[in-house]
Amino acid sequence: AALGIAIALAGCSAGGRASTDGGGSTDNKGALVGVAMPTKVSERWIKDGDAVKSDLEKAGYKVDLEYGDNKVQQQAQQVSNMITKGAKVLIIASIDGGALSDQLDAAAKAGIKVISYDRLLTGNKNVDYYVSFDNEKVGVDQATSLLTGLGVLDDKGEKTGEKGPFNIEVFAGSLDDNNASFFFNGAMKTLKPYLEDGTLKIQSGQDQLSQAATQQWDPATAKARMQNLVAKSYSGGTTLDGVLSPYDGISIGIISALQGAGYGTSDRPLPTVTGQDAEAASVKSIIAGQQYSTIYKDTRKLAKQSVTMAEDLLTGKKPEVNDTKSYDNKVKVVPTFLFQPTVVTKDNYKEVLVDSGYYTEADLK
Ligand code: BGC
Repeated sequence: AALGIAIALAGCSAGGRASTDGGGSTDNKGALVGVAMPTKVSERWIKDGDAVKSDLEKAGYKVDLEYGDNKVQQQAQQVSNMITKGAKVLIIASIDGGALSDQLDAAAKAGIKVISYDRLLTGNKNVDYYVSFDNEKVGVDQATSLLTGLGVLDDKGEKTGEKGPFNIEVFAGSLDDNNASFFFNGAMKTLKPYLEDGTLKIQSGQDQLSQAATQQWDPATAKARMQNLVAKSYSGGTTLDGVLSPYDGISIGIISALQGAGYGTSDRPLPTVTGQDAEAASVKSIIAGQQYSTIYKDTRKLAKQSVTMAEDLLTGKKPEVNDTKSYDNKVKVVPTFLFQPTVVTKDNYKEVLVDSGYYTEADLK
């Protein structure tokens, strides 16, 4: 019923002709907003897309929401179509952040404003605003929770005196996603002193972003790499104690590889494995004592902020930002609104995820 009302509202105001300057005029009432999301493979982007669409519709705008199925060309085509259809604002969560330059140029020419959603669009000046979570802090939080899971830090982040040594391996996200290096660098900066003093060891020696990267954040790719690492570096009694994983889908691939290699028994417990996005399958895994932690980023907040930005742009207001230095897209520093992430473990998932209404208890059964 809510959707019906939203559509009716959008329909009422559809008569208003949008101005061509992409903002500054109430003529934009009921304007079309294009929303490009990367993939439906991961639950988080479905939540993002749904929330952005419904918030835009509630505000009286028409929405073209498209998913790129992780195909760069498909997404480029979708964005081109949004421009052709007369969208006044584009909200884009890219697949390859550097691959939409033609579309961004075309958008600027047509007076269309562009909001980079969660992932930074790079290599082009026609990116007006960015809304995301503090991506470096996500990496710091992932590494900190790895250290907590290993017992090197306590739950207040203080050193316990535990010196290991612990064997860890590190995974990163997709190199065409600007976030991947922020996550990895934040994490590695946090782990560095412990690698240097011997508390942590990466037996494979694979500690560079290029070695740890997972093209398209693909769980199967991560699973295959984990299988290789175990076969090469953890045969003959050497035990793996921890894995830095940047995203819940990758964590699932890693855990599956480890279970296949005999981890997950009382003799050989699963290592401490991190994650990101608080996806239902991984929260269930955390509750079951498999995955150790995830990073919760409330997609509802991100969606709402992007819609507020879009509305501001369409009504001639200057969108609010809280960071004007961190996100250089190689051509310009993009004004940004950042939210803060939250670490989730078995200890706080109820309070953080259920009490906030992000999930019901039943979603996590
Ligand atoms: C997002 C993460 C997500 C990853 C894989 C990143 O750009 O910031 O939340 O885990 O993409 O979808």
